[in-house]
Amino acid sequence: MGLQIDIQAIVANWQALAAKAPTARAAAVVKADGYGLGAAKIVPALYEAGARDFFVALAREGQAIRPHLPADARINVLSGHMEGADLTGLVPVINSPEQFFRDRAMRPGKPFAIQLDSGMNRLGMEPAEWSSLRDEALAAGPAFIMSHLACADEPEHPANAMQLAAFREMTEGVDLPLSLAATGGILLGKDYHFDLVRPGVGLYGGMPFADALPVVRLSLPVIQTRLVEPGEIVGYGATWTSDAPRRIATVAAGYADGILRILSGSGASLYADGVACPIVGRVSMDLVTADVTHLRQLPAELDLICPEQPIDAVADRAGTIGYEILTSLGHRYERSYL
Ligand SMILES: *Cc1c(COP(=O)(O)O)cnc(C)c1O
Repeated sequence: MGLQIDIQAIVANWQALAAKAPTARAAAVVKADGYGLGAAKIVPALYEAGARDFFVALAREGQAIRPHLPADARINVLSGHMEGADLTGLVPVINSPEQFFRDRAMRPGKPFAIQLDSGMNRLGMEPAEWSSLRDEALAAGPAFIMSHLACADEPEHPANAMQLAAFREMTEGVDLPLSLAATGGILLGKDYHFDLVRPGVGLYGGMPFADALPVVRLSLPVIQTRLVEPGEIVGYGATWTSDAPRRIATVAAGYADGILRILSGSGASLYADGVACPIVGRVSMDLVTADVTHLRQLPAELDLICPEQPIDAVADRAGTIGYEILTSLGHRYERSYL
């Protein structure tokens, strides 16, 4: 019914990824409300399984999960110390000299970490900034030093080895925990693991962790069915015309719920107990139509996300990635947690 989220599968995926990096501690990335699945529900289960390090993008996200975690859980904020952020009980990952000086002035003695830019050019201190700040920053006692890979989901990409070399060079002689790998980096092998790994999407059943257990099932209630005659159209813009007498089912969700409109005519299906029913016509704001002519019996609900069509299959049809499908999942679904 609605959006089913299997917390035990998230825990099992975390354990499986942690086991692939046995020399490192495994954190859990729960930004964007746990990739759209509900961080407040997810973090206590991961804590119970042994996770002590969590990553969010924004201080506000950290404050939202702080009450759901014991005091010894470390909540790291990837955007670092932004002006006006409430970092009480959180650990900012400092991205620039400016953030460093702001943080030390406003939070003296409070824990912080450092992000270095090893080549992605998105967040983190550049090599030149780091070499001038390094002694002062290390003297202030960061909890760990991290960087992030741009192409870890492409094992053959030369940027991986280049970033690894850059990170090693920038952290040479540093006696602190180091962290480079997210889900993709874990799968690149032990050279990339260092002391702390930061899996995100793999916890939630997404690629590049091909062995992940499925976490999400999205079942949409059928509101109505009808027979359409040859030549009749379905949906906005009359983009689909029936070629034969067909039965069309209308389900109660649409692009306002994260079922991307580009899925119209993409070859994506809704599934009736594992049987594909092609989406026909346009996805509208609150409704999707599918061809169910071939079903002997129509179930009360049709699935958009299920083992037969996991998040990355939906993403392929929509020309995007599993991450975006997950984080687009709407707030109108009835959510249930297994
Ligand atoms: C999002 C993110 C992660 C997690 O990445 P996945 O690919 O989802 O595993 C780890 N580290 C940083 C800095 C991130 O931004």
